[in-house]
Amino acid sequence: MSEKIPEKVKARWLELVEQIEEHRKHYYLKDKPLISDSKYDELFKELVELEQKYPQLQTADSPTLSVGGTKAEGFEPIEHLNRMYSLDNVFDDDELKAWRNRVEKEFDTEPEYLGELKIDGLAVNLVYRNGKLVSMATRGDGRVGEDVTFNSEFITALPRSLSKSAPELLEVRGEIYFTLKDFDQLNNEVMALGKSPFANPRNAAAGSLRQRIDRRDEEIVKAANNPKTSPAKLNSLKADLAQAQRILGLLKVTVHGIGSVIGVDLKSQSSAYALLRDCGLPVSKYFEVGIDPNAFIRYWQQHRHDVEHEIDGVVIKVDSFEKQKKLGETSRAPRWAIAYKYPPEVVTTKLLDIKVSVGRTGRITPFAQMVPVKVAGSMVEMATLHNQEEVIRKGILIGDTVFLRKAGDVIPEIMGPVIEQRTGNEKVFKMPTNCPSCGSKISAEKSGDVDLRCPNAQTCPDQITERLFYIGSRAALDIEGLGYKAAAALFAEQVLSSEAELFDLTANKLEKTNFFTKSSSTGTQLNSAGEKLLSQLEIAKQRPLWRILVALSIRHVGPTAAQALAAEFNSLEKIATASITDLAQVEGVGETIAESIVDWFNEPWRAQVVKKWQRSGVVMETQIESKKTDELADLIVVITGSLPGFTRESAAEAVTSRGGKVASSVSKKTHFVVVGENPGSKYEKALELDIPILDAAGFAQLLSGGPEAARTYLGLS
Ligand code: NAD
Repeated sequence: MSEKIPEKVKARWLELVEQIEEHRKHYYLKDKPLISDSKYDELFKELVELEQKYPQLQTADSPTLSVGGTKAEGFEPIEHLNRMYSLDNVFDDDELKAWRNRVEKEFDTEPEYLGELKIDGLAVNLVYRNGKLVSMATRGDGRVGEDVTFNSEFITALPRSLSKSAPELLEVRGEIYFTLKDFDQLNNEVMALGKSPFANPRNAAAGSLRQRIDRRDEEIVKAANNPKTSPAKLNSLKADLAQAQRILGLLKVTVHGIGSVIGVDLKSQSSAYALLRDCGLPVSKYFEVGIDPNAFIRYWQQHRHDVEHEIDGVVIKVDSFEKQKKLGETSRAPRWAIAYKYPPEVVTTKLLDIKVSVGRTGRITPFAQMVPVKVAGSMVEMATLHNQEEVIRKGILIGDTVFLRKAGDVIPEIMGPVIEQRTGNEKVFKMPTNCPSCGSKISAEKSGDVDLRCPNAQTCPDQITERLFYIGSRAALDIEGLGYKAAAALFAEQVLSSEAELFDLTANKLEKTNFFTKSSSTGTQLNSAGEKLLSQLEIAKQRPLWRILVALSIRHVGPTAAQALAAEFNSLEKIATASITDLAQVEGVGETIAESIVDWFNEPWRAQVVKKWQRSGVVMETQIESKKTDELADLIVVITGSLPGFTRESAAEAVTSRGGKVASSVSKKTHFVVVGENPGSKYEKALELDIPILDAAGFAQLLSGGPEAARTYLGLS
């Protein structure tokens, strides 16, 4: 007799089914999800587990038995020759092991596994007859999809004719997606039009592909024939169409599966890929056969940002077609493949408030305070919003549910609001009129500036703390022991009233604080933080001139400009007394930086900072060093794109004068690839070969501290 199902469980099952169906509608039909994929996966997992525990709950139309999508109104149906499936997911090693056990018990020996990336895109089915593309369809419910063939001619990445090796009939499945670069650009365009951004590249790709471009063409013809249509209206219709076609042109395609085939006998997934590649179809360069699934999963978890497109996990497949056939499929997914999903990179959370912070140069920056949420493996509760215009551009209101991501890097970014989840109680953010730290009236420095600033650089507590912290940072004097907490304690515990006194710090002074001391039976004495700070300050006094210049927090003067200035003038005094014209003539400096430097030294209290540092023993001249050194001996560096402060020649010269070699192409032997603005294909090559990539600041580290410093900068050692 079957176990009686508690009413509470039945109600929860129904609730989950309804929620999942609703979310599928928004995701597959409208391309505008209301919740993050990870939240959806949680709901789906709960449903699967409930049905595993109470199998009687599962009805024939349960979401766990269906592929998910359906056909939207407005698209012609197209029946796939062979069924398309979704994939089952696992989220940790135990679940993976359980899947492998189910697979491996079917065979005497462990099957050969193939690993590939799970592209976060939109599934499509392509049919080629005698090498010619005859149809392109979305997955739909797996049997019938939406016909989008009319869009295929605009997708430049999609071959419409195959090479001679193509079999008579070839049905292939693949993913349509945007690279991350194109996705960001597209979202910027969408937001500039005042629309809510796409939550992820998958939704962007789906939204772009699932458009009736053919009907828009017809609309234009109709409008053109209608005497009432104004030229402006006609032009705007044409511009819209051109934009939609341009966006389709950016879509990429990667094929990862085979449906019906006539004219060739294929033995395995990997041999199918070889054939598809020969036919001219885009096969992923990242797939590997004969893998250890766990090692493959770990590798890509660490390298997921090295790929040009978003991945939400990897897919492990049994390679042999014979074995795939033996394992078969459920009504939703093959048993011979599994998706291992990585921790989410886009999540939704609530925006509780927007506050402002004051930076070291007085810039007032709004930032978001959110309900803490785990994204890409770490908890996030704050994200910068850059400036008040960015808040408007993103269209976010306090109280909104927002999409949050940590794409590419470690910096969390709010992508935009989930407009559909608004309750009407959200509030518009208003930029304050006064500095939250010192109360001074804030304003733009020049008309037209987006940023607002606190003008009280001399005594604004937040600005002083931020400057102290910056002096200790890697970009400036790299003082271990002068992190944010130490900087805040120095000011808050009144050990110093500005950075001018930093190099006068003594044990006596630090002993009056709580932060830098510990109590013992013999009384209060310096703790290790205090001792470290004092010894590191001594070392910092000998840092190269350019670092001292950076540490002064002169607006626009970063490591590259500072190096160029130090190389030209060799002493801080000469820089302080140089004219705007002299400064601006230095390669990579220019008018804006030159003016900023002159303004800075013209402030008497700032000139005092320099004097005090000098009196405390900070070296303010280029120290004698032989022109040619060997810090970069045997190092092969490739430089691509333009680097501020350098010409192509001077950047190369900076490497060679230190004993390094500059190569013109990237190979496995390359030690570093330095990437400036508008890099060329060398950048892609570096990503492909996994060569450490340095930006301008990283290059500065390489030049000043050698390869170890550059590796440390990249977090590699
Ligand atoms: P899926 O995206 O988890 O996996 C199946 C799909 O992965 C396949 O159809 C295929 O197109 C694709 N894929 C990418 N790379 C592949 C490769 N190398 N080999 C084989 N297939 C590959 O499953 P799904 O059924 O398309 O969608 C379910 C997922 O969609 C959920 O897990 C969730 O992430 C998302 N979703 C989100 C919402 C929401 O409201 N946020 C709603 C529905 C679905």
